[in-house]
Amino acid sequence: MLPVIVHSVNELRAMLPENKHVALTPTMGALHEGHLSLVRHGRQLADINVVSVYVNPLQFGPHEDFSTYPRELEADCARLENIADIVFAPNDAELYPLPQTVTITLPPLADELCGRSRPGFFQGVATVVCKLLNCVRPQTAIFGKKDFQQLFLVQLMVAQLNFPTKIAAMPILREADGLAMSSRNAYLTSDERQRAVLLPNALRTAAAAITAGEKPTTAAATVRQQLQADGFVVDYVECRNATTLTSTASGDIVLLVAATLGQTRLIDNIEIRCPNAAKRELA
Ligand code: AMP
Repeated sequence: MLPVIVHSVNELRAMLPENKHVALTPTMGALHEGHLSLVRHGRQLADINVVSVYVNPLQFGPHEDFSTYPRELEADCARLENIADIVFAPNDAELYPLPQTVTITLPPLADELCGRSRPGFFQGVATVVCKLLNCVRPQTAIFGKKDFQQLFLVQLMVAQLNFPTKIAAMPILREADGLAMSSRNAYLTSDERQRAVLLPNALRTAAAAITAGEKPTTAAATVRQQLQADGFVVDYVECRNATTLTSTASGDIVLLVAATLGQTRLIDNIEIRCPNAAKRELA
């Protein structure tokens, strides 16, 4: 069965009885298998499986790709056949009937990593996630580790603002050659698409080196050099504590990268189990 498309919050709420397990997967659409893996997880958990499709203007900077971001609601619904029950696709007037003067304030981490080159991005994400959680009131909301910093900040917001929703974190789905699936991969030219695989390759090599004893800072510097040599414009390559996203040298590590290839900003990350504390100097 195809999912029912719902545009209004009132209509949506009328379809969601309180005694049912509702799962929500928030997306911006242009769905790929990475998204669908999240939605399939929702299918397993929930009586009513909801996917939101909304390109959130609040999280785009003035020179970013808001106007060109792919919008393909009908095709998305077809992709969700037999997996989702409801597609919540509000328009801007429904979600932002007034100028959004009330927003979520996040800790300084929101201005680091992706937040450094995308000021206001995580505030926009947190605000729309807060609204979507309030509209759908799901027992479970499902997010991907592809956007590791986003997942971390959403978990923090949900915990600190006492949302009753449980956050499920799902692994990164990759193309056969290792490139992390992303709606923005569609922007890559065929030449860029071939070269894009150098990014996950560099991450995997660095992770193996760290596991074998290389200092994380050295491994991150090598990734940066490799990507630059391969024609990427590197935004950041950083090792962080995988649990706290701080530069604190204890616990497992996540190596995070953002880099632009041509016109396309790619992000990716890899988690590294790190049993030997002596090797974990991160900054
Ligand atoms: P987006 O539509 O890009 O906002 O993504 C919606 C959700 O799908 C977010 O929680 C993302 O982290 C997740 N997601 C996007 N790409 C992938 C992927 N390749 N693997 C797993 N989750 C993903």
